[in-house]
This record gives sequence, structure tokens and C-alpha cells, in this order.
Amino acid sequence: MSISENLSQIEAGIAAACQKSGRSRETVQLVAVSKTKPNEAIAEAIEAGQTHFGENKVQELVAKNPVFPNHINWHLIGHLQTNKIRKALPFCSLLHTLDSVDLADKADRISAELGIRTEALIQVNIANDEAKFGFSAEETECALDHLLSRENLKIRGLMTIPAFDPDPEITRVHFANLRSLRDRLEHISGHSLSELSMGMSHDYHVAIEEGATLVRVGSSIFGSRG
Ligand SMILES: *Cc1c(COP(=O)(O)O)cnc(C)c1O
Repeated sequence: MSISENLSQIEAGIAAACQKSGRSRETVQLVAVSKTKPNEAIAEAIEAGQTHFGENKVQELVAKNPVFPNHINWHLIGHLQTNKIRKALPFCSLLHTLDSVDLADKADRISAELGIRTEALIQVNIANDEAKFGFSAEETECALDHLLSRENLKIRGLMTIPAFDPDPEITRVHFANLRSLRDRLEHISGHSLSELSMGMSHDYHVAIEEGATLVRVGSSIFGSRG
């Protein structure tokens, strides 16, 4: 199948999941994860109407962004090392991986120096997985006031990457937990955290049922990554 056929299929899947959960289609944004894929593949997706792309490496984000028109949005979905903040931020419409207070403080300071506001999601290690980056639920709550008061960061919501499980029903509880954490944090902070970035190729439909507003889908669009 071609990239545009794959995109149509994902679009149908997103629409079905929205309908099943009584949500309107506009509440979910598809982020096409183009990591390791060539510019030709991205151009094909843009041709088919896709406008949001996700990359996990700064090097690749910075190389690909300038090739494409300005209206294309680039999401950084991989861990950001502090020595690459300055390079990455000008090319990044949404940083999904704000995973430490140190990163937040440095991104805030560098955004000020660059004269930009950085939109970001707090990465939450919702399942307390040893191998994953991110704040635990408790750490998120403790750091929230500090993160929300960084002048040059705009915290839009939460993101999570649960450990892979071939059965999306196993992962569902982590998505539900991220959503209820978000609801609680909104309540205690009085601040809107409207975005929930969760769900990938094999489980985006379940993530949407649990409230995802951004789904990060790679291999189902561009094929497997060697
Ligand atoms: C690679 C990646 C994805 C996309 O995964 P697929 O299974 O190919 O859809 C989503 N989120 C993150 C953080 C990734 O690194």
C-alpha cells in the first residue's frame, strides 16, 4: 500500500475511534512519525494532506524541517539532551518530551535567549517503567507549579510512552491513568492541560477512546523501520 492509502486507512481508524467514544474528529491530531524515513516519503504524506510530523532525533528534525513549507508542524517526540536544546527549539512546534526540571529550566532560559515561546508536553512515566524517561505521576504533581510558571514555556498537556504490549487492552489502563492524572492536575492547578499525546500504530484507537488528542503513528503510515 502507498503512503496515501495508509493515511486514508489511519484516518478511517481515527474517525471510527472518535465516533465510538462520542468525540468529534477535530479533537484528535495525527502526528505522522517520520523518523528514519526519507524526505520523499514525507513529501508524499504532505501531498496527501498530512501537516504534522514527528521526529525523535534532533539531527533529523533540524535537517528535515527546512526542506518543507512553513505551515508543516514538527513535533519532537524523542528525549532531548540539554546540549541540543538550542539547536532543536527553533525547529520544533511542540516538544512532547519535557522529562525533567533541569530540561525545563534550560529550555526556558534558551527560549528567552532565542526570543521564542516553546510549547511543550510533560512526559509522564505513567507505568513507572525503569527503562523510560519522564516524571512519575507524583513527581509531575510536585513539579507542576514550577513548570507552569516558566515564562517562556507553554505547557499544553501530558505525554506518555507505555512499554510495548502487543495487546492494546493491556496498555489501555496506562492511557486511562494519564488522562485521570491530567484531570486531577487541571483541577489542582486551575490551568488547562488540554493535550494528551498517547497511542502509536498498534494502539492509537484505544488511546483515542481514553482521551488522546495527539496520536503518534509511524510504521502504519511509512512502513516498518529496518
Ligand atoms: C517511533 C515512535 C512512535 C511511532 O511508533 P510506530 O509504532 O511506528 O507507530 C511513536 N512515539 C514515539 C515516542 C516514537 O519514538
